[in-house]
Amino acid sequence: MSVVLKPGDMIGILGSGQLGRMIALAAARLGIRAHIYCPESGPAFDVCAQQTIAAYEDEKALAAFADSVGVISYEFENVPAKTAAFLEARRPVRPGPRALAITQDRFTEKSFLNDLGIPTAPFAQVDSLADLEQAVAKLGRPSVLKTRRFGYDGKGQTMIREGSNLAEAFASVGGGACILEGFVPFQREVSVIGARGLDGSFAAYDVCENEHANHILSRTIVPAHASPDTQKAAIDMAGRIAAALDYVGVITVEMFLVEEAQGERIVVNEIAPRVHNSGHWTLDGAVTSQFEQHVRAICGWPLGSPARHGAIEMHNLIGAEANDWATLLAKPGVALHLYGKHEAREGRKMGHWTRVLPE
Ligand code: AMP
Repeated sequence: MSVVLKPGDMIGILGSGQLGRMIALAAARLGIRAHIYCPESGPAFDVCAQQTIAAYEDEKALAAFADSVGVISYEFENVPAKTAAFLEARRPVRPGPRALAITQDRFTEKSFLNDLGIPTAPFAQVDSLADLEQAVAKLGRPSVLKTRRFGYDGKGQTMIREGSNLAEAFASVGGGACILEGFVPFQREVSVIGARGLDGSFAAYDVCENEHANHILSRTIVPAHASPDTQKAAIDMAGRIAAALDYVGVITVEMFLVEEAQGERIVVNEIAPRVHNSGHWTLDGAVTSQFEQHVRAICGWPLGSPARHGAIEMHNLIGAEANDWATLLAKPGVALHLYGKHEAREGRKMGHWTRVLPE
């Protein structure tokens, strides 16, 4: 369906977190209103034109939501398949349900990537302890056991080291459908954030380099430390992935950068079918932010320029770190973003700040 929106129209977003909030803010700047649908209230509700609090299984509420908007998107990848299919029958869902289905399952996702000729960690399907024993015999130690679905920020995964007890490891991730991944000896983690328009055009930001603390993104710098050839290869992979998914919207591809005697190589870790924390710097550091780019794409509008304004540094404010807001406000060149969350729980993303320096 090639539905194109116009200023004054409304987009629907599933999820009320900070990503939905920043999409709604970018939409508002372009004269597009946002209807946020979520089972619970969240930061996006402060900045949207319309809101629905209902379960993702509530078909009456979903139908009313679909009727009120021109196109539907989401801020998180775990949208239930049934919800996406129900909505897609009424309004275009962008990115489409296929992108969700593939990226919700690590086994399907890695198989899809390898079919495209894109390198991932070696992996094996694990549904039982016997499968795990076989997979460890094949992929060696260290290796990483992950649940196929619903893992995020390092949750639902455990490292298998020399001496690790396999039965305990399997039990610790729930003893269900998993994959085992060979350990990738990477030097750096990077991401490519790109957008694919309704017309098939593709635009990507420069490669981002990401540092994590306790499995949560802590700092992003751009440009990444990677050769021009590696950067080009990384962006090319993201473009091929988006094209193969017939994708519309912003897509994020998380990658490992491995440096070897023969040179650098990229290994794709996972795809996020959405705007991403490592792209928050684009609000202050790029001609078009990732949120505006997403709104443009899902509305069927031309993509904007992803060009950078300078050298970028973005820091997340996790939990109590956000209490430093007054100090950060006083720092020259710091652009502060707070998500309006009331409680600074440990590990919670409360805001971020960005600094753009001349290159
Ligand atoms: P993920 O949930 O897949 O993003 O993994 C969380 C983190 O665990 C990654 O950001 C890496 O630091 C680490 N990790 C995941 N998979 C592997 C792997 N196959 N080899 C080495 N490190 C990994």
